[in-house]
Amino acid sequence: MSSAALGIFGGTFDPIHVGHLRGAIDCRELLDLEQVQFLPAALPPLKATPGVSAEHRAAMVEIAIADLPGFSVDRREIDRPGVSYTIDTVREIRREAGAAKPLVFIMGLDSLRTLHRWRNWQDLLTVVNIAILKRPGYTASVDPEVSRWLEAHSVSATQLLHHPEGSVAILEQPGLEVSSTAVRAAMGVGRMPRFLLPEPVLEYIAHHGLYRPPSSSPRTNQ
Ligand code: ATP
Repeated sequence: MSSAALGIFGGTFDPIHVGHLRGAIDCRELLDLEQVQFLPAALPPLKATPGVSAEHRAAMVEIAIADLPGFSVDRREIDRPGVSYTIDTVREIRREAGAAKPLVFIMGLDSLRTLHRWRNWQDLLTVVNIAILKRPGYTASVDPEVSRWLEAHSVSATQLLHHPEGSVAILEQPGLEVSSTAVRAAMGVGRMPRFLLPEPVLEYIAHHGLYRPPSSSPRTNQ
Protein backbone atom coordinates (compact mmCIF):
# COMPACT_ATOMS: atom_id res chain seq x y z
CA MET A 1 0.00 0.00 0.00
CA SER A 2 1.37 3.39 -0.94
CA SER A 3 1.60 6.11 1.72
CA ALA A 4 0.29 8.61 -0.84
CA ALA A 5 3.34 10.68 -0.03
CA LEU A 6 4.79 12.92 -2.70
CA GLY A 7 8.51 13.15 -3.52
CA ILE A 8 9.90 16.33 -5.09
CA PHE A 9 13.30 15.98 -6.76
CA GLY A 10 14.78 19.35 -7.64
CA GLY A 11 17.80 19.83 -9.87
CA THR A 12 19.33 21.38 -12.93
CA PHE A 13 19.24 18.10 -14.90
CA ASP A 14 21.81 19.42 -17.40
CA PRO A 15 21.37 16.66 -18.54
CA ILE A 16 19.43 14.08 -16.50
CA HIS A 17 21.51 10.90 -16.00
CA VAL A 18 21.22 7.44 -14.44
CA GLY A 19 22.44 8.75 -11.05
CA HIS A 20 19.31 10.92 -10.83
CA LEU A 21 17.05 8.18 -12.15
CA ARG A 22 18.34 5.36 -9.91
CA GLY A 23 18.26 7.72 -6.92
CA ALA A 24 14.66 8.69 -7.63
CA ILE A 25 13.58 5.07 -8.10
CA ASP A 26 15.38 3.94 -4.93
CA CYS A 27 13.83 6.78 -2.97
CA ARG A 28 10.33 6.03 -4.26
CA GLU A 29 10.68 2.35 -3.40
CA LEU A 30 12.40 2.80 -0.01
CA LEU A 31 9.87 5.38 1.16
CA ASP A 32 6.88 3.89 -0.68
CA LEU A 33 6.12 7.22 -2.34
CA GLU A 34 3.04 7.41 -4.50
CA GLN A 35 4.66 9.82 -6.93
CA VAL A 36 8.00 11.54 -7.50
CA GLN A 37 7.96 14.84 -9.34
CA PHE A 38 11.15 15.93 -11.04
CA LEU A 39 11.46 19.69 -10.69
CA PRO A 40 13.87 21.17 -13.22
CA ALA A 41 15.16 24.57 -12.10
CA ALA A 42 14.96 27.47 -14.54
CA LEU A 43 17.82 29.43 -12.95
CA PRO A 44 19.50 27.60 -10.06
CA PRO A 45 20.59 30.23 -7.49
CA LEU A 46 23.94 28.65 -6.56
CA LYS A 47 25.12 27.28 -9.91
CA ALA A 48 26.30 28.88 -13.14
CA THR A 49 23.44 29.54 -15.55
CA PRO A 50 23.01 26.26 -17.47
CA GLY A 51 24.27 26.32 -21.05
CA VAL A 52 21.22 24.37 -22.20
CA SER A 53 17.78 25.96 -22.00
CA ALA A 54 15.26 25.00 -19.33
CA GLU A 55 12.91 23.77 -22.07
CA HIS A 56 15.50 21.31 -23.37
CA ARG A 57 16.44 20.17 -19.84
CA ALA A 58 12.78 19.59 -18.97
CA ALA A 59 12.20 17.79 -22.28
CA MET A 60 15.10 15.43 -21.49
CA VAL A 61 13.58 14.66 -18.08
CA GLU A 62 10.19 13.98 -19.74
CA ILE A 63 11.84 11.57 -22.17
CA ALA A 64 13.83 9.82 -19.44
CA ILE A 65 10.75 9.03 -17.36
CA ALA A 66 8.29 8.47 -20.21
CA ASP A 67 7.72 4.79 -19.42
CA LEU A 68 8.31 4.93 -15.65
CA PRO A 69 5.03 4.76 -13.72
CA GLY A 70 4.97 6.97 -10.62
CA PHE A 71 7.21 9.73 -11.99
CA SER A 72 6.32 13.08 -13.53
CA VAL A 73 7.80 16.48 -14.35
CA ASP A 74 6.72 19.57 -12.46
CA ARG A 75 7.29 22.60 -14.70
CA ARG A 76 6.49 25.33 -12.19
CA GLU A 77 10.07 26.63 -11.77
CA ILE A 78 10.49 26.78 -15.54
CA ASP A 79 7.20 28.59 -16.03
CA ARG A 80 7.94 31.06 -13.19
CA PRO A 81 10.14 33.99 -14.16
CA GLY A 82 13.42 34.53 -12.31
CA VAL A 83 15.65 32.53 -10.00
CA SER A 84 14.26 29.19 -8.74
CA TYR A 85 14.22 29.25 -4.92
CA THR A 86 13.27 25.87 -3.45
CA ILE A 87 11.53 27.38 -0.44
CA ASP A 88 9.08 29.30 -2.69
CA THR A 89 8.39 26.17 -4.72
CA VAL A 90 7.79 23.81 -1.81
CA ARG A 91 5.51 26.37 -0.11
CA GLU A 92 3.44 26.50 -3.29
CA ILE A 93 3.30 22.68 -3.49
CA ARG A 94 2.29 22.50 0.20
CA ARG A 95 -0.58 24.95 -0.40
CA GLU A 96 -1.83 22.75 -3.25
CA ALA A 97 -1.32 19.41 -1.46
CA GLY A 98 -2.98 20.39 1.83
CA ALA A 99 -1.55 20.23 5.34
CA ALA A 100 -1.88 16.46 5.87
CA LYS A 101 -0.01 15.10 2.86
CA PRO A 102 3.53 13.88 3.59
CA LEU A 103 5.95 15.73 1.30
CA VAL A 104 9.58 14.73 0.78
CA PHE A 105 12.13 16.95 -0.91
CA ILE A 106 14.88 14.73 -2.37
CA MET A 107 18.49 15.87 -2.68
CA GLY A 108 21.92 14.32 -3.14
CA LEU A 109 24.46 14.28 -0.33
CA ASP A 110 26.56 16.90 -2.14
CA SER A 111 23.70 19.40 -1.86
CA LEU A 112 24.11 19.35 1.94
CA ARG A 113 27.42 21.17 1.50
CA THR A 114 25.67 24.26 0.16
CA LEU A 115 22.41 23.94 2.08
CA HIS A 116 23.32 26.75 4.52
CA ARG A 117 23.43 29.11 1.53
CA TRP A 118 19.94 28.22 0.26
CA ARG A 119 17.35 30.98 0.77
CA ASN A 120 15.53 30.46 4.13
CA TRP A 121 16.96 26.93 4.34
CA GLN A 122 15.98 26.60 7.99
CA ASP A 123 12.32 26.99 6.99
CA LEU A 124 12.35 24.03 4.60
CA LEU A 125 11.43 21.54 7.32
CA THR A 126 8.39 23.60 8.29
CA VAL A 127 7.03 22.66 4.86
CA VAL A 128 8.55 19.29 3.80
CA ASN A 129 10.57 16.32 4.98
CA ILE A 130 13.96 15.85 3.31
CA ALA A 131 15.44 12.60 1.97
CA ILE A 132 19.14 12.64 1.21
CA LEU A 133 20.58 10.30 -1.41
CA LYS A 134 24.07 8.96 -0.84
CA ARG A 135 26.44 9.81 -3.64
CA PRO A 136 29.82 8.11 -4.14
CA GLY A 137 32.70 10.46 -3.43
CA TYR A 138 30.72 12.67 -1.05
CA THR A 139 30.53 12.50 2.75
CA ALA A 140 28.12 14.17 5.12
CA SER A 141 30.87 16.62 6.15
CA VAL A 142 29.07 19.95 6.14
CA ASP A 143 28.89 23.44 7.60
CA PRO A 144 28.60 23.25 11.44
CA GLU A 145 25.16 24.85 11.36
CA VAL A 146 23.91 22.20 8.91
CA SER A 147 25.53 19.53 11.04
CA ARG A 148 23.59 20.71 14.14
CA TRP A 149 20.41 20.88 12.05
CA LEU A 150 20.97 17.30 10.88
CA GLU A 151 21.53 16.10 14.43
CA ALA A 152 18.33 17.78 15.60
CA HIS A 153 16.06 16.52 12.83
CA SER A 154 17.46 13.19 11.54
CA VAL A 155 15.30 10.09 11.70
CA SER A 156 15.49 6.69 10.03
CA ALA A 157 13.99 6.24 6.57
CA THR A 158 11.13 4.23 8.08
CA GLN A 159 10.20 7.14 10.37
CA LEU A 160 10.55 9.87 7.76
CA LEU A 161 6.91 9.93 6.70
CA HIS A 162 5.38 9.74 10.15
CA HIS A 163 4.62 13.46 9.79
CA PRO A 164 3.80 15.60 6.76
CA GLU A 165 7.00 17.61 7.29
CA GLY A 166 9.80 18.22 9.76
CA SER A 167 12.33 15.36 9.46
CA VAL A 168 15.46 14.43 7.51
CA ALA A 169 16.72 10.95 6.61
CA ILE A 170 19.88 9.90 4.83
CA LEU A 171 18.88 6.92 2.67
CA GLU A 172 20.94 3.76 2.53
CA GLN A 173 20.88 3.29 -1.28
CA PRO A 174 24.42 2.98 -2.63
CA GLY A 175 24.22 5.68 -5.34
CA LEU A 176 25.93 5.79 -8.72
CA GLU A 177 29.08 7.71 -9.48
CA VAL A 178 27.65 9.77 -12.35
CA SER A 179 27.33 13.54 -12.64
CA SER A 180 26.01 15.93 -15.27
CA THR A 181 29.45 17.59 -15.18
CA ALA A 182 31.10 14.32 -16.22
CA VAL A 183 28.50 13.74 -18.94
CA ARG A 184 28.97 17.27 -20.31
CA ALA A 185 32.76 16.93 -20.13
CA ALA A 186 32.68 13.66 -22.10
CA MET A 187 30.43 15.11 -24.79
CA GLY A 188 32.44 18.33 -24.85
CA VAL A 189 35.44 16.39 -26.14
CA GLY A 190 33.37 14.37 -28.57
CA ARG A 191 32.94 11.20 -26.50
CA MET A 192 29.51 9.59 -26.35
CA PRO A 193 28.51 8.79 -22.76
CA ARG A 194 26.34 5.78 -23.56
CA PHE A 195 24.84 3.97 -20.53
CA LEU A 196 25.29 7.06 -18.30
CA LEU A 197 21.94 8.38 -19.51
CA PRO A 198 18.96 6.78 -21.23
CA GLU A 199 19.34 6.10 -24.98
CA PRO A 200 16.28 8.24 -25.92
CA VAL A 201 17.86 11.19 -24.06
CA LEU A 202 21.09 10.68 -26.02
CA GLU A 203 19.03 10.65 -29.21
CA TYR A 204 17.37 13.94 -28.17
CA ILE A 205 20.80 15.46 -27.46
CA ALA A 206 22.12 14.37 -30.85
CA HIS A 207 18.98 15.53 -32.66
CA HIS A 208 19.17 19.02 -31.14
CA GLY A 209 22.96 19.29 -31.28
CA LEU A 210 23.32 19.88 -27.53
CA TYR A 211 26.61 19.63 -25.58
CA ARG A 212 28.75 19.58 -28.72
CA PRO A 213 32.50 20.14 -28.65
CA PRO A 214 33.29 23.84 -29.25
CA SER A 215 34.68 23.12 -32.73
CA SER A 216 31.41 21.65 -34.09
CA SER A 217 28.53 23.73 -35.38
CA PRO A 218 26.69 25.95 -32.87
CA ARG A 219 24.11 24.45 -30.51
CA THR A 220 20.45 25.04 -31.15
CA ASN A 221 19.61 25.14 -27.50
CA GLN A 222 17.71 28.37 -26.92
P1 ATP B 1 26.47 18.89 -11.93
O1 ATP B 1 27.51 17.82 -12.15
O2 ATP B 1 26.25 19.78 -13.12
O3 ATP B 1 26.69 19.67 -10.66
P2 ATP B 1 24.57 16.93 -10.92
O4 ATP B 1 24.99 15.67 -11.58
O5 ATP B 1 24.95 17.11 -9.49
O6 ATP B 1 25.05 18.18 -11.78
P3 ATP B 1 21.98 18.16 -10.58
O7 ATP B 1 20.93 18.28 -11.61
O8 ATP B 1 22.67 19.37 -10.16
O9 ATP B 1 23.03 17.05 -11.14
O10 ATP B 1 21.43 17.35 -9.34
C1 ATP B 1 20.09 17.39 -8.92
C2 ATP B 1 20.01 16.67 -7.60
O11 ATP B 1 20.37 15.31 -7.81
C3 ATP B 1 20.98 17.22 -6.56
O12 ATP B 1 20.35 17.19 -5.28
C4 ATP B 1 22.14 16.24 -6.60
O13 ATP B 1 22.78 16.16 -5.36
C5 ATP B 1 21.42 14.93 -6.94
N1 ATP B 1 22.28 14.01 -7.66
C6 ATP B 1 22.91 14.21 -8.83
N2 ATP B 1 23.61 13.13 -9.21
C7 ATP B 1 23.43 12.19 -8.26
C8 ATP B 1 23.92 10.86 -8.06
N3 ATP B 1 24.77 10.28 -8.91
N4 ATP B 1 23.51 10.20 -6.94
C9 ATP B 1 22.66 10.79 -6.05
N5 ATP B 1 22.18 12.06 -6.17
C10 ATP B 1 22.56 12.75 -7.26
